[in-house]
Amino acid sequence: MLKFLTCLTTQHDLRLVLVAGLVCIAGCFTTFRLYSRMRGARGVVRAAWLLLTGLVAGSSVWATHFIAMVAFTPGLKTGYSPTGTLLSLMIAALFMASGFAVASAQRSTTNDFAGGVLIGLGVAAMHYTGMSAFVTQGHLVWEHATVGMSAILGVFGATAALVLAGQARTVRKQAIGGGLLCLGIVALHFTGMSAITIIPDASIQVPDQLLSGGILTLAVGSITAMIILGGLGAVAIESQTSRSALERIRRLANAAYEGLVVVQSGKINDANAAFCELVGADLPELVGRSLVGSILTFDEAGPTREGVRREGKIQPISGGREIPVEVFSRLMDDGARIETSGLTVLAVRDLRERRAAEEKIRYLAEHDGLTGLPNRNSLQVRLGAALDRVEASGETLSVICIDLDHFKEANDQHGHLAGDAILVETARRLQSAVQAPSFAARLGGDEFIIVQVAGGDQPTAAAELSGSLLELLSAPVVYEGQELALGSSLGVSLYPDDGRTTEALMANADMALYRAKESGRGVYRFFKREMDDTIRERRNLARDLRQGIAEDELVVHYQPLARASDGEVCGFEALVRWQHPTRGMIPPLEFIPVAEENGLIGALGDWVLRRACADAASWEKPLRIAVNLSPIQLHNPALPSLVHEVLISTGLSPSRLELEITESALFKDYQRALDNLRRLKALGVRIAMDDFGTGFSSLSTLQSFPFDKIKIDKSFVENIHRHDRATVIVRAVLGLGRSLEIPVVAEGVETEEQIVFLRGENCTELQGYAIGRPAPIDTLSAWTLAGAAPARLEGPVDLGQAPGEVKRSA
Ligand code: C2E
Ligand code: CA
Ligand code: CA
Repeated sequence: MLKFLTCLTTQHDLRLVLVAGLVCIAGCFTTFRLYSRMRGARGVVRAAWLLLTGLVAGSSVWATHFIAMVAFTPGLKTGYSPTGTLLSLMIAALFMASGFAVASAQRSTTNDFAGGVLIGLGVAAMHYTGMSAFVTQGHLVWEHATVGMSAILGVFGATAALVLAGQARTVRKQAIGGGLLCLGIVALHFTGMSAITIIPDASIQVPDQLLSGGILTLAVGSITAMIILGGLGAVAIESQTSRSALERIRRLANAAYEGLVVVQSGKINDANAAFCELVGADLPELVGRSLVGSILTFDEAGPTREGVRREGKIQPISGGREIPVEVFSRLMDDGARIETSGLTVLAVRDLRERRAAEEKIRYLAEHDGLTGLPNRNSLQVRLGAALDRVEASGETLSVICIDLDHFKEANDQHGHLAGDAILVETARRLQSAVQAPSFAARLGGDEFIIVQVAGGDQPTAAAELSGSLLELLSAPVVYEGQELALGSSLGVSLYPDDGRTTEALMANADMALYRAKESGRGVYRFFKREMDDTIRERRNLARDLRQGIAEDELVVHYQPLARASDGEVCGFEALVRWQHPTRGMIPPLEFIPVAEENGLIGALGDWVLRRACADAASWEKPLRIAVNLSPIQLHNPALPSLVHEVLISTGLSPSRLELEITESALFKDYQRALDNLRRLKALGVRIAMDDFGTGFSSLSTLQSFPFDKIKIDKSFVENIHRHDRATVIVRAVLGLGRSLEIPVVAEGVETEEQIVFLRGENCTELQGYAIGRPAPIDTLSAWTLAGAAPARLEGPVDLGQAPGEVKRSA
């Protein structure tokens, strides 16, 4: 150490030493600036940066050495051989470049260390090659231990520089690296110089053509300064271009619709305008804040993987509601540079609009468009959830199936808008009748469901609700100033007695509803086990009926109709009966609905029509024959051609055939029914309105088609003189017939009193047990033979005289 200091202070020109030091420090710092650029680049760009780094480092070391050598004043004449001098420069550049290449090959301390060793050795190699180019008037004697020491110091300085500077990303790191490297170089140099003892020898000539110290200093100094400045310039240009590139990227990012945020070690580093707006803060406010966990929370825990979509929420800094977002993350990478590594870009997309759209779609999928009630699909789901709930809580639950009475008629008669108004109003009433967790839903058409979740006892709670629903729905719906009268039928099933699943409860409530409709509508019925049996029974009946039609078990009975004025029989109504092999005679009211439900009514109706027409054609007197049509037959477009064909094949005159239809049969498809009726009428067939008074009984029905006859339902006739209302209705219908010039028939005439009344009111024809019961064809000869005396309604009527009556008649 002492020798080192003595050498430095006594044998050197300190001003030049200072110049050497400055060149060294500037060169080393520039080296590390270049080194940091090189580490951030790839490919050819990286190679170019490496070359420049090696060149700047090499020439700095070399220049330091030679300026320091010029500062060395041993008191003898000195000079430098050009070859050695040049060689030492090349060695320096080569070692430096390879040292930095090794250090940056991988991001590890081992690499930094290895690179440092290489650079240290390079400095030593340069120094001693340079020394070999040193010529003076004397012999150089080397102290080997000090030489070794100098190399160690150089290596130490260089490794420390590389290890501590690391990637040299910041100016501070670059200064540390540069400073340490510079110290290593200086230490090596002067320790190396102190290892020399010069023994003067006048015989050694220093040739004059050798480079002199002064020229050398000037040349070396200026070349090195240029190289260093070149290096610094390159760095400056590069950072300027990358800054403007960044500016371009920023403008692009700000134009992006999505929020973009750059994160480094969890902290916000940068963000675009869209992100700032989403978060409700300015960029400066955001930079440095941590993102995930405070501003952004993910819905599901777990690592963010590159390119994997995650959902989460943004909590705006400005306050306000959380914003649902979807986030994609990507490591920042612009290809040529890797200095951006460690930066992650998150693309944050606002999901509010999408969520709102999804919400809307879900709503539409789950709700009925007209009434806004939950639809069939969501009913399943909600009922399932309600069942889970009551199972856990011990509450009770009931399912109430609701069907509007006379909805189809109202819909057909007043139009679809009126129908819609009825449904909307019904939905409103149902909703007003229940409170969550109970709810109402629409199954479709005029069918609704209420699921009642009650704390109270069942069946009391369900019965109370059903009662009030019946009342609520019985109030007329006002549509365009008209009052539309409605009513409803309800079927109820209870959990768990009538079922534990959605399907069972719904099916059983439906069965109970069926029962309610059957027992005259306007009532509610609870499901009962026997209903199951009834259904099974009907199924058996349907099977038997199919067979019965094929095996000729059906027969047609005929009931006479008499003119009211003189009592003469003017026609018959064909009424079908089924002679069941084991059950005996089954009345039509029991099997016609079964036939209708099971698609057998077509075949059955055909058969009756054909039989009745054939029978009537065989009568000697040209009496009329009335045949009942089911609504399903009436809506079959093939009906007119069928009737035509039957008339031709039986030879019956069309004017003798009368087809009876009910008012409600018309309404299923009003237009098609009217169409069929017109075509039938065109054949010359007569059309009668059956059971008038039981349906809508509207004047408009009678006006919509020229009916040939009105049949007053027997329920009114039977109550003549018993209920004022019935008497009034019979009178009104008779009056209506007169004013429209349509003949009116009274059905179910059983007593003398009724006959007297009806005659007095100018009723046209009479039908009923008082005239004759439905009977088989072979018992009718008294009326159908040409010579037969007319049946006159004079004197007391002998009831029950006709054979073949149906005991279980309705
Ligand atoms: P409907 O057309 O009103 O037929 C009259 C019903 O009243 C017949 O019952 C008849 O037996 C009964 N009846 C007649 N006079 C009296 C009376 O003085 N007092 C009482 N209490 N009842 C009387 P039925 O034969 O049981 O027929 C019931 C219903 O079945 C018929 O009512 C009709 O709608 C339907 N029906 C009968 N035959 C056929 C058919 O061939 N095709 C179709 N589609 N329906 C039919
Ligand atoms: Ca009838
Ligand atoms: Ca009738």
